Amino acid sequence: MSGIRPTGFLHLGNYFGALRNYVRMQESYNCYFMVADLHALTTLKDTKELKGHVRRVLAENIASGLDPEKVAFYCQSHVPETAELYLLLNMLAYVGELEKTPTFKDKVRLQPMNVNAGLLTYPVLQAADILLHRATLVPVGKDQEQHLEMARNYANRFNQRYGEVFPEPYAFNFGEDLVKVPSLDGAGKMSKSENQLATLYLADDDDAIRKKISKAKTESGGAPGAPVPDSVANLFQLMRLVGGETAAYEAQFNEGTIRYGDMKKELAERMIAFITPIREKAEAIRNDEAYLRKVMDMGAEKARASAKVTLELAKEAIGLNYY
Ligand code: ADP
Repeated sequence: MSGIRPTGFLHLGNYFGALRNYVRMQESYNCYFMVADLHALTTLKDTKELKGHVRRVLAENIASGLDPEKVAFYCQSHVPETAELYLLLNMLAYVGELEKTPTFKDKVRLQPMNVNAGLLTYPVLQAADILLHRATLVPVGKDQEQHLEMARNYANRFNQRYGEVFPEPYAFNFGEDLVKVPSLDGAGKMSKSENQLATLYLADDDDAIRKKISKAKTESGGAPGAPVPDSVANLFQLMRLVGGETAAYEAQFNEGTIRYGDMKKELAERMIAFITPIREKAEAIRNDEAYLRKVMDMGAEKARASAKVTLELAKEAIGLNYY
């Protein structure tokens, strides 16, 4: 189980942290993937943009290889059982621990005039999304590790207080470390809303990709044995993610002969070859309203069937059954 918020254009971080694994998992697991539209309400000011964002996220997931026939691919708000489980889990969540969550503190810093209760209880809603399907594997990027720990806490607290219903969910990347795709400015991660010039989007055209990569931060290097600075290591990482070799560039860095312009040119061309087919496919899907409606209906039906079973088990365990 996993999800992506419809708050803007999907980017390489979403792809390599999440989407790529959705596509790999759909072949051998029972999967639930969603567009987290209720989560988006914690930060989105203008809900007029929501419909466009939801369609974009649906289309970009499918263009990246997600098959709505193989998985349950749905919108969070189409599965109202999510809200019911969220309410039940809120009784097990402590305000003190929610206030200490680093992502909450970040959001408070970013939107000090809109510190709503939904923002505070974001990890509870996320736990509800996962536990709703009693999911055990959650394909996410590195930034989500702490939220998964909180989801495990809520599952365990529920089980201890009311009886065993939920398995423990874990972040999943096929046994490898979770991915963090760095931003091109050498600081932080790519993200939908921050550092837009340092983030590569699946909708970027060739010129935008070339421009952003040519402006990527680099630092002059390298004496033999000197550590590779983060900004340069980030470019090496991006090169490897899109199938490039970095051994020769790394050797040049160590010798102090690296020509960043050449490396950036190769990286840009590889990036264009990677992004273009996804962008073109997504564009066609995004404009096919009838198909997207079918996808959402089919996904909601599958997700609600699973959610209903879990909620019955949860209510039974709590004692919310009076007949
Ligand atoms: P964003 O932070 O761009 O708004 P979301 O919060 O909707 O993205 O996260 C959707 C998924 O994408 C999550 O699994 C998250 O871990 C992953 N993700 C987001 N940014 C990155 C990144 N830079 N590197 C790796 N994974 C990422």
